[in-house]
Amino acid sequence: MLLSQQWEYILMAMPTSPPSPTSPSNPRDGMTALTDDAERNRLLAEMAEQSTDMISRHTPEDWRFIYVSPAVTHLLGYTVEEIVGMSAHDLYHPDDVEDFAHRASSVSYEKGLYTHTYRFRCKDGHYTWLESTSRSIRDPDTGELREMLVVSRDASRRIGAEQANRRLARVLESSSDLVVFLSPDLTITLLNESARRLLSISQHAKEPCVLAELLTADSYAQFSEDGLPSAVSSGCWTGELEMVGSEGSMIPVALELLAHSVLHGQVEYFSLVARDLSEAKAAETKLKQYQAEIDHATRLITMGELASSLAHELNQPLTAIVNYVRGIQRRFKDSDIVSWDELQLPLDKTAATALRAGEIIHRMIDFTRKREPARERLSLYDVVHDLIEFCGPNAERHNVQLDDRVDSSLPEVLADRIQLEQVLLNLLVNAIEASEQSAECTALMVTVEASLTPDCMLLIRVRDQGVGLPTGHPQQVFERFFTTKAKGLGMGLAISRSLVETLGGELWAENNPDGGASFLFSLPLAE
Ligand code: ADP
Repeated sequence: MLLSQQWEYILMAMPTSPPSPTSPSNPRDGMTALTDDAERNRLLAEMAEQSTDMISRHTPEDWRFIYVSPAVTHLLGYTVEEIVGMSAHDLYHPDDVEDFAHRASSVSYEKGLYTHTYRFRCKDGHYTWLESTSRSIRDPDTGELREMLVVSRDASRRIGAEQANRRLARVLESSSDLVVFLSPDLTITLLNESARRLLSISQHAKEPCVLAELLTADSYAQFSEDGLPSAVSSGCWTGELEMVGSEGSMIPVALELLAHSVLHGQVEYFSLVARDLSEAKAAETKLKQYQAEIDHATRLITMGELASSLAHELNQPLTAIVNYVRGIQRRFKDSDIVSWDELQLPLDKTAATALRAGEIIHRMIDFTRKREPARERLSLYDVVHDLIEFCGPNAERHNVQLDDRVDSSLPEVLADRIQLEQVLLNLLVNAIEASEQSAECTALMVTVEASLTPDCMLLIRVRDQGVGLPTGHPQQVFERFFTTKAKGLGMGLAISRSLVETLGGELWAENNPDGGASFLFSLPLAE
């Protein structure tokens, strides 16, 4: 209870003038009033002597102590004898003097009862906070101010707590994070400055009153379904949500929700601290964009590396088409009537060959096109089969044989087709180059295998019989710009690893016990 409330009643009850036998409070019943006043004063004096609050009486002009209760020793360190006769004015903190002088007049001349908090110098020189309620005592006949009656209590703890609260409030207000306090029914009870600024709530605008107004519909649903129950049960929930900014714009935030409980586990209020992720997300998007551009550039480079083999591969069907057409020209140039039976075969062959050439071109265009990645269910069998066919001419040029051992019964994976092709193509081209043989030697083998892992991933292995991983740097092959090739860029494996990780798997390399290297990567299965 505040001092003012507790003592107000007593101070109000005290006579405003010291009791005198010649001035009974009730002239009609002089003796009884006299006895009552004497008894009351005795009781009050006893209370004052025993109270832990300090009771003091002062001269009205310079506030000298006329009387002080023993609590003064505990509160200020002085004995009663030491402080009586001293002026309270000399003991106020210099910063409070003006304040006090201003209020002192109201104590004396206005309401007659005043409570205020100020610093008072103790005997050892340090200042302590006191909360005092003062009352003026007047002469009942003349109204002249006779003395001041004051009850004081140590307020250091309360002031300390208030200062700590003010400091906390300042930290809260100046925090760059958004802070929102919510009542258990999710009514907003406080928004700090950052929250108002980011959510474009002006000082005078009507405040949003419930959390649903601050979050997008999807985020509010996630908050209600996941966040709130977790915070209530475990005290805390963190997640990423979207808040609604000015003109409905979306602000991504990393959010921490704390449930503050009173005894018996009942939530008293929630605090929500959110960090604006707009800049981080924008940087992430930019980085992804750069990454995609690098990926695209390396695809163009890989395709460039394959270009001469592919040109050779395209040359074959084109020559075949020319030969078929020339054959038809030669055969039928002198005939007026041509039978379909004679034409069907060379025309079918021409069409099929042209389609094959078209497929090669399509694949090249597809592979080098700039596009957004999109995950889909893919059959590894089909992807590997197509790629092995695609790399056939390149392998032939390097005198390498490709062996496709992927089983068609394997479950499908969830991946982006072009990203998966980019990884596989990279590994195949590297394996072919590492296994290159001169034409007179027996061709080495590059094998692609796949199997299921115990943790339900698909494990793909590209195994070669080539030179093996660079001695002394087996793991450096995944570092950007690491290359042992004269015209190498050293980007292929670094990009392949990040692509596999994006797809939810891992890529690593090892030397085979019987020579050559293996590159292995895992991919999650499609559900
Ligand atoms: P680049 O092919 O441009 O050099 P990569 O990142 O694809 O870039 O490969 C980096 C290096 O890793 C290669 O230069 C080579 O030294 C090594 N490497 C890659 N694949 C194999 C492999 N199958 N066998 C041996 N070394 C390999």
